[in-house]
Amino acid sequence: MTIIQQLKTAFPVGSVISDTEQCSPYECDGLSAYREKPLAVVLPSSIEEVKTALQICKQNHVPVITRGSGTGLAGGALPLKDGIVLGLSKMNKILKIDPLARTAVLQPGVRNISVSQAVEPYGLYYAPDPSSQVACSIGGNVAENSGGVHCLKYGLTVHNVLSITIIDMDGHVSVLDEKDDGIDLLALMNGSEGLLGVIVEVKVKLLPKPDTAQLVMAGFDTVTQCADAVTSVLEQGIIPAGLEMMDRFSIKAAEEYAKVGYPLDAEALLLCEVDGSFDQVKVDTQRITDILKRGGATTIRVSQNEEERIALWQGRKNAFPAVGRFSPDYYCMDGTIPRKQLAFVLEQIDALSKKYQLEVANVFHAGDGNLHPLILYDANKPGELQQTEKFGGEILKLCLDVGGTITGEHGAGIEKLDSMCHQFPEPELKIFHAIKAVFDDSGLLNPGKAIPTLHRCAEVGQMHVHNNNLPFPELERF
Ligand SMILES: Cc1cc2nc3c(=O)[nH]c(=O)nc-3n(C[C@H](O)[C@H](O)[C@H](O)COP(=O)(O)OP(=O)(O)OC[C@H]3O[C@@H](n4cnc5c(N)ncnc54)[C@H](O)[C@@H]3O)c2cc1C
Repeated sequence: MTIIQQLKTAFPVGSVISDTEQCSPYECDGLSAYREKPLAVVLPSSIEEVKTALQICKQNHVPVITRGSGTGLAGGALPLKDGIVLGLSKMNKILKIDPLARTAVLQPGVRNISVSQAVEPYGLYYAPDPSSQVACSIGGNVAENSGGVHCLKYGLTVHNVLSITIIDMDGHVSVLDEKDDGIDLLALMNGSEGLLGVIVEVKVKLLPKPDTAQLVMAGFDTVTQCADAVTSVLEQGIIPAGLEMMDRFSIKAAEEYAKVGYPLDAEALLLCEVDGSFDQVKVDTQRITDILKRGGATTIRVSQNEEERIALWQGRKNAFPAVGRFSPDYYCMDGTIPRKQLAFVLEQIDALSKKYQLEVANVFHAGDGNLHPLILYDANKPGELQQTEKFGGEILKLCLDVGGTITGEHGAGIEKLDSMCHQFPEPELKIFHAIKAVFDDSGLLNPGKAIPTLHRCAEVGQMHVHNNNLPFPELERF
């Protein structure tokens, strides 16, 4: 029997898709420049079915690419043509809400936004809020250690997950809990990009909804003033619930899309939200307004009610699709830098935009120093995708040069394999490979993603030479 026949025998009708047309929706994730049809897509409904799928794949030595909602932007869920996509969208139940302990137990396919919606009647919410939260899954959030607007104050996914259940390629189930002694395996799984195990259950921490929240929107004549304002707010000891920045292009795109009243004459926009008790929010809002005025803000608007606050966020939250309306394609970069370098790096990105003659929109988590330059391009123009990727690679090198890192929240996937060679020296890459081998000795879980081979690093010229001894001299250099 072929593996597809074995899967079809083991699963109910409709849970295994092998028809080429029906596999099409799974051929890419949010990094849509890369596409591949998988051998088949398996849609399990339970932990038992996940185990079965993994065991069949292991017996047949077939790779497994786990997929949540496919909103990832680094190609982490890109299929392999000889691999199975394990889609977890049917495992989308909220298994338990404990309002007293302020926890929820979720199946991996639960959409991020559904968690806050389900616990709202108890006055609770789930803090990490990626802009893709209407679609992305909690399993995907853990696998990418996703962030969002409110992570500046409340932490990334890793800070809000209490335990997870994972299954390895042999079908063994393990529960990793924050209370476990020894190595922090729970943290290791956050950001593991489907390489170490399949996440089948997640217990998350819920927070009480703050009494109130207020948003201060400020427009600036220059990007530098706006970037400096970010540092000024934080230097004063205020930790905003969100501190987001948009440049002229993004302001225009978001305003045309969401019509929320962003100032179209501003070169840069800051959205700064504070939350907490009524008294604290009143004090912080006034302090922030004063800081931003002193920093040269030309427009300041403070939300006067909940509707206005939510409306002002709508522009920012829809900025990616809004920018997408201006170009056939865009490439969303993700790098993180020390906040004090914001103005310098944005200037450099502008210069690179001129060098490559490709427009860029910047909309990002300024408080975390997490940049998201969106490079606009047209994949139908010969060579433009390659130029875009070169441009993106230069942005990530720039992030490293100023003491930052090549990803903030989107992961490495296939997109950043070369950049991983720039950031991590050979000994660290070897450790990454060794860790993967401990969890996945057959190398069948999402192979070829996130961790570059040493051979690849040699090709991109990033093999480190110590004492004139070139490691792996047998490898061909380019
Ligand atoms: C418009 C837009 C806005 C976005 N904004 C943000 C943002 O603000 N912050 C942010 O952090 N990200 C953002 N993203 C990126 C993306 O939404 C996140 O990375 C998200 O967590 C991916 O979840 P997913 O369910 O779609 O995962 P997928 O794309 O399906 O998978 C992502 C990776 O996780 C692995 N994986 C998925 N589920 C599991 C599982 N159960 N077990 C093991 N591995 C698994 C996959 O193999 C893959 O490597 C945005 C994306 C878009 C398109």
